[in-house]
Amino acid sequence: MKVLVSGGAGYIGSHTVVQLAEAGHEPVIVDNFSNSKPTVIDRVEQIIGHHVTWYRADLTDRAVTERIFLRERPDAVIHFAGFKAVGESVAEPLKYYENNLNTTFSLIHGMQASGCRLFAFSSSATVYGMAPLPFTEEETDLSALSPYGYTKLAGERILTDIAAATDIRVALLRYFNPVGAHPSGLIGENPLGIPNNLMPAIANVATGRQDMLHVFGNDYPTPDGTCVRDYLHVVDLADAHIAAVEWLSEHDVATRIWNLGTGRGTSVLELVHAFERACGHKLPVEFAPRRPGDRDAYWASAERARDELGWVAKRSVDDMCADTWHCQQGNPDGFPNGEPASQPSQA
Ligand code: NAD
Ligand code: UDP
Repeated sequence: MKVLVSGGAGYIGSHTVVQLAEAGHEPVIVDNFSNSKPTVIDRVEQIIGHHVTWYRADLTDRAVTERIFLRERPDAVIHFAGFKAVGESVAEPLKYYENNLNTTFSLIHGMQASGCRLFAFSSSATVYGMAPLPFTEEETDLSALSPYGYTKLAGERILTDIAAATDIRVALLRYFNPVGAHPSGLIGENPLGIPNNLMPAIANVATGRQDMLHVFGNDYPTPDGTCVRDYLHVVDLADAHIAAVEWLSEHDVATRIWNLGTGRGTSVLELVHAFERACGHKLPVEFAPRRPGDRDAYWASAERARDELGWVAKRSVDDMCADTWHCQQGNPDGFPNGEPASQPSQA
């Protein structure tokens, strides 16, 4: 299949492009590099060993998006493009609603203009809000705790309605906590900036960019008192997208939801200790007050993805830490600035 990957230069998108190419599909990257470096294209091409088609375009621009669809005529879309920082979404909600929703609308218009019928959407476990565990795909009591979360809830709803009214088939993919990097060390989470999430913060402490890891809360009702999440390796997550798009191509459904996680919880301190094994030294840790809005513990119910997609997350927490560390060491100053060697396609 030819698969248009929106946000294909980003963290999860770049890994998905690599896995798509390695599975024999043809990825087409569309990205405006608002949160990624164009040189990621070089890295992707280095891993897969050949040129990848890419466009520099803002997917909120419907006319440009439609032109790309008419030129490429993809069989499927995987939609990663969007903003994802929870705190920033509270401060700048309009920016989040506009970008995360308008990219979705443009892509649907592009699909309708070109006859593309398969759509995979990056959703998040955040839509489970305060629902009770286990988080299963049948849960109806969904909610959001931030404008970012509402863009995911709204995206799910909008796509469900569109799928019901058209011949477009939609996969709603609810990610738990993606971490790690490609084992080559060539792509990973952009290691620059002040991270909000745990794994990049741990990595910053390991490299010395941050002198101390602040652990938000050690009095939760969990085995060691710190919060528990379901971390999954980004390469496993990338593979799940391929399984989902292939499944959609074979099943006449409007919408299907899958949780993407390991089904296992890991505490903040367990992740710290796994990272210490990967980097070979102790990491300075200080307990800090709870972070507002944090739930104590949750993980995926991962059975549906296993049973229907034949997908299970294979890589361990130690793999996630080792690959993150490898990528950090190879890119101590982040990914290089500048333009990729290969030329973009013109919309
Ligand atoms: P990312 O920021 O690394 O990647 C997103 C990419 O989209 C970036 O390359 C950015 O430049 C691009 N982009 C943003 N707006 C665009 C626009 N208008 N036009 C074209 N390109 C645009 O983020 P990521 O971690 O790879 O996340 C991908 C998706 O998965 C996002 O939708 C995010 O909300 C969702 N998600 C991520 C996580 C996570 O922990 N990383 C968890 C759940 C869901
Ligand atoms: N966390 C922490 N210190 C940090 C960043 C995160 O203790 O510097 C904790 C956070 O409170 C949460 C867990 O790590 O309990 C995972 O946080 P992250 O933001 O990565 O994921 P989310 O909570 O959004 O699932």
